[in-house]
Amino acid sequence: MSDSSPRFRQVLGTFPPYRPGKVPAAVAGQAHKLSSNESPYGPLPSVAEVIAEAGHGVNRYPDNGAEALTAALAARFAVPPGHVAVGCGSVGVLKQLIESVGEPGAEVLYAWRSFEAYPPLTDLAGATSVRVPLLPGETHDLAAMAAAITARTRLVLVCNPNNPTGTVVAGEQLSAFLDQVPADCLVVLDEAYREYIRDASVPDGIDLYRDRPNVAVLRTFSKAYGLAGLRVGFLIGHPPVAEAVRKTMLTFSVSSIAQAAAIASLAAEPELLERVDAVVKERDRVRETLLADGWTVPPTEANFVWLRLGGHTGALAQACERSGIAVRPFAGEGVRVSIGTPEANDAFLAVAREFPHRRP
Ligand SMILES: *Cc1c(COP(=O)(O)O)cnc(C)c1O
Repeated sequence: MSDSSPRFRQVLGTFPPYRPGKVPAAVAGQAHKLSSNESPYGPLPSVAEVIAEAGHGVNRYPDNGAEALTAALAARFAVPPGHVAVGCGSVGVLKQLIESVGEPGAEVLYAWRSFEAYPPLTDLAGATSVRVPLLPGETHDLAAMAAAITARTRLVLVCNPNNPTGTVVAGEQLSAFLDQVPADCLVVLDEAYREYIRDASVPDGIDLYRDRPNVAVLRTFSKAYGLAGLRVGFLIGHPPVAEAVRKTMLTFSVSSIAQAAAIASLAAEPELLERVDAVVKERDRVRETLLADGWTVPPTEANFVWLRLGGHTGALAQACERSGIAVRPFAGEGVRVSIGTPEANDAFLAVAREFPHRRP
């Protein structure tokens, strides 16, 4: 017997497994999970009912083509069904996209810091990440991103609003940027938080993709629609892009329960968007309170706030933990805090008020 372990691809040695947001340990009976940008609300009764009903059919495989969900999405966004592809969360769709374009020598370009799933998915596909630092105001530096495009660039990711900073790219800047990207390079607008945007200058990616064959939009049921635990997201793009996503999908990776719940959520959209409105009100209240307390908080159009704390990042996360609150620290950079129920937000604001280090 040899004592060496099975041989894995070298790339697996270059990054740790994905670290999900922590689940808080209760303190004095109170626990608040503000670490993963989830909806603080459970499923609507109408959606819970559909989920329970779908449970009776799980001896059968799901519809691999997700025909009913695809049709519902096509109708909702006024696009042809051939422009829609679903996946196991929008991270699943993103993995499919990166696998579709990534290979040794190919570059994937994105802002940094941005969504922490981008680097490992790029590495796994054998492609190379090209990261363009955010501007001092925590927004995308689109001029620098345009300048970083080379003949090797296969995919550009624009996270709008950006996770974890909450900042947005406005319409004219984004269209001007898209006009500079070569037609054979795919641009993906990651709009996981689209429903929380209230700034009218931010374009809807679905308007931008229509006359641009190399632009596609990623959306998810995980955040505003409250289905993070079921794993369903989708892409809207032109047929060659949608087809690449269908080809790279792990067979049956969107469960029948997820498909049914997503359809029911589209049907209950007005009710779900009322909840989003409540979160947006809380977001604005949290940010204004922090500003009044002397914090620097970039304007946010998502369901979280970003506090750049540099070396004090860990200290704030620990202070929150001592109060039963889990937030998302990025070591040495800052803390992302999801907007929860008013009670959870108050608990966080109380910790923030006592925290002495408000700057890096
Ligand atoms: C949360 C998030 C997603 C969505 O992930 P799912 O796989 O759909 O749960 C996608 N992109 C960004 C930037 C996110 O923050």
